[in-house]
Amino acid sequence: MRVAVIGGGIAGAELIRVASPCPLDFVLIEPKKQVEMQALYPEYLGGIARLQDLAAPLKPFCEKVGATHIQEKALSIEGSSVICEKSRVDFDYCVVATGAAQNYFGIQGVENTFSINTLEETKRARRFVEDNYPERIMIMGSGLTGVESASILAESLDASIYIIEAKDRVLPQFSPQTSALVEKALSKKGVNILTSTQVAEVKKDCIMFTDNTCLDCDMAIWTAGIKPSEFIQKLDLPKKNGWILVDPHLNAKGNIFCIGDCAWVEIDGRLATKTGLEAERQAKYLARHFRNMIKGRPFEKYSVRASTDSQVALISLGADCAVGVVGKTCIGVPTRLIYSLKSWIDKSFIKRFK
Ligand SMILES: Cc1cc2nc3c(=O)[nH]c(=O)nc-3n(C[C@H](O)[C@H](O)[C@H](O)COP(=O)(O)OP(=O)(O)OC[C@H]3O[C@@H](n4cnc5c(N)ncnc54)[C@H](O)[C@@H]3O)c2cc1C
Repeated sequence: MRVAVIGGGIAGAELIRVASPCPLDFVLIEPKKQVEMQALYPEYLGGIARLQDLAAPLKPFCEKVGATHIQEKALSIEGSSVICEKSRVDFDYCVVATGAAQNYFGIQGVENTFSINTLEETKRARRFVEDNYPERIMIMGSGLTGVESASILAESLDASIYIIEAKDRVLPQFSPQTSALVEKALSKKGVNILTSTQVAEVKKDCIMFTDNTCLDCDMAIWTAGIKPSEFIQKLDLPKKNGWILVDPHLNAKGNIFCIGDCAWVEIDGRLATKTGLEAERQAKYLARHFRNMIKGRPFEKYSVRASTDSQVALISLGADCAVGVVGKTCIGVPTRLIYSLKSWIDKSFIKRFK
């Protein structure tokens, strides 16, 4: 039986790694040559992480586990076939794991921003930092990516760093207690925090806000939000808010499953966060399911660990401070310990594929 896995990011690659060896024939459709760890992009931007820490080549990995890598973009799913740029992959089962796209919420001047949503974009941003020594850097969006990037840049560069957030506190998806702790740590590092501030347009050398004020800047980094990719939007599968809606067994429809950021996973009233932690857990669950299926065993429903109303996260705020969040408990630790732990977890994920 052939399983076509579309997307070789955290979810897709981990699914194949955990499911192997097994009698299923896995075909990975992924245009990139490598699997990447996005959680390390802020460290790469700050000049701390190296390329080899955050990426592992897919070709040797697929050879090792007996999977086939088709280095192409999937364009559509027609019946039981994935239509790619040059080839067509027939499948018995399909897993969609194509992640999410950056959401610019229609702001003008997107071409004047940097993004750190992909490795290519992060490399472009790093090159700009190295070549131009920007003195005023504006980071738009204060989710995990925004706050981690702001603190790493504040530590590694001699520049004024601003973080701009439309809501009234940083990390608005977390509890007010977490936001307060993170704001305190960012301020200590000299990061300027502008909350309740909405960007209208990004120009080459300044940012215009909706109240008609503006701030000069040498570099604008957009980290505010994700949305379903065009590929996901086009798929004829059940959707919720544009994401692929799955049942408690991560099944979207018939022989098609969906995991990771592109899936809407809501089980027993708990909505899974779009995080590496959840992507990895969903991949492991589905790998177990495929093993059970071969043996004709029933399998239990998926259980969400990190949900939007009970977050689980390690938020690193530079080399000397990090915040650990589990549900309503939030611990701010002014020590290297949690930072080192997070860095170790992120780097060891990539090592599994080497
Ligand atoms: C800068 C940054 C920092 C982050 N930090 C953290 C963190 O500290 N902790 C945490 O838990 N989470 C973090 N996240 C979130 C985490 O990285 C994502 O939730 C996770 O990567 C989702 O895994 P995924 O496999 O669903 O998607 P991805 O890892 O994005 O992989 C999707 C893959 O699909 C491929 N693809 C896309 N379209 C197609 C197509 N049409 N055909 C074939 N392949 C396709 C892409 O090339 C990509 O390789 C961070 C994200 C970013 C951007």
